[in-house]
Amino acid sequence: MTLPIYMDGHATTRVDPRVVDAMVPFFSEHYGNAASRHHQFGWAARDAVAEARSAVATLIGASPRELVFTSGATESNNLALKGVMDASREHGNHLITVSTEHRAILDPCARLEQQGVTVSYLPVREDGLLDPNTLADQLRPTTVLVSVMSANNEIGVLQPVAELARVARSAGALFHTDAAQAVGKVPVDVVADGIDLLSLTAHKFYGPKGIGALFVRRGLTLTPMVDGGGHESGRRSGSLNVPAIVGLGRAAALCQAGMADEAARMTRMRDRLWVGLQRALTGVSVNGSLVARLPHSLNVTFDGVNGEQLLMGLVDVAVSSGAACSSSRVESSHVLAALGVPESAARASVRFGLGRFNTEAEVDRVVETLRSLVTGLRTPVPVFELADDDPELPPSWGEERVLKVN
Ligand SMILES: *Cc1c(COP(=O)(O)O)cnc(C)c1O
Repeated sequence: MTLPIYMDGHATTRVDPRVVDAMVPFFSEHYGNAASRHHQFGWAARDAVAEARSAVATLIGASPRELVFTSGATESNNLALKGVMDASREHGNHLITVSTEHRAILDPCARLEQQGVTVSYLPVREDGLLDPNTLADQLRPTTVLVSVMSANNEIGVLQPVAELARVARSAGALFHTDAAQAVGKVPVDVVADGIDLLSLTAHKFYGPKGIGALFVRRGLTLTPMVDGGGHESGRRSGSLNVPAIVGLGRAAALCQAGMADEAARMTRMRDRLWVGLQRALTGVSVNGSLVARLPHSLNVTFDGVNGEQLLMGLVDVAVSSGAACSSSRVESSHVLAALGVPESAARASVRFGLGRFNTEAEVDRVVETLRSLVTGLRTPVPVFELADDDPELPPSWGEERVLKVN
């Protein structure tokens, strides 16, 4: 077993070696520009892009022409939110989202607010889910767009997307979902679920970073954010990143082919982790619904430990905590706060993201690591007491404190 053990699959995943193999020829031999129409270098690139587009479309039940390649879910979310709100000014200026969204939704929303869009941030229940009735109550005639993530990146809960989309659309609003964590892991079907726009990114499902897509339902117009050569039907200009797109396509095909088996294996390992932690320790609890949940995801609070010490002690396990989720800021999780988890408990929470390359032996090792670490952190350190009643004290002992073990 090589250390540290990677269990941070919500942050990113290792690129599957089969994906790397598929990409390499598009750096070395087939380096053409997919927009070059007059030679075989261009045709090879164009065909590879078409094949990848189909694979991604199949994975989410879309038609290939409904996909716009982007640099990832952040860009897809920006294009969806800003592009739709801009194109729908006639119709209204109200957008609805949820307080537990990723920053790649919340930050574009903040920008839109500066530009005069009204944004409603809906609360979630204690289990992390948005109640469709809460959404129904907030819809207005001016609501243009509802954006609710499919799966949460911190706690792994799956929102009732099909029902939320139905509620949104019945009020005349469009429905967008940031499905970065769900695509490739659980079945996603934009037709069955009634989704108008969907964001995905390859590096969350064993593909490369810097490539993703936005699904835009046929007939829906949005204002592009990048103008240039009119690539992607004018919705996102710039020469296509062919090797990355090939990688995205291969990653999508692999996930599609292995989804049922992989989900079952992830569920078994996730349950082994949770049962193992419960056997090893008292005072452990899962954040978010245990039922509506990604198969590979678990967010656990360890009562009575200091979050910083917990994370510092986890040297052999690569995970994230409720304190370090947004890399540059040291603030505790807004997602756990929205669930009503107190700040100290949020900081003492660990997000486990299992993946394709984890083993049961690694799970057992992680359980053991946490058992000994948490037990150690909970063991009370000897209490020291000021010996201020000590008759031996010199009269001017000042700052020099005499300590005695209690
Ligand atoms: C990772 C993630 C993103 C950002 O994706 P990038 O491809 O890194 O831009 C957005 N939303 C969610 C829910 C994510 O998990």
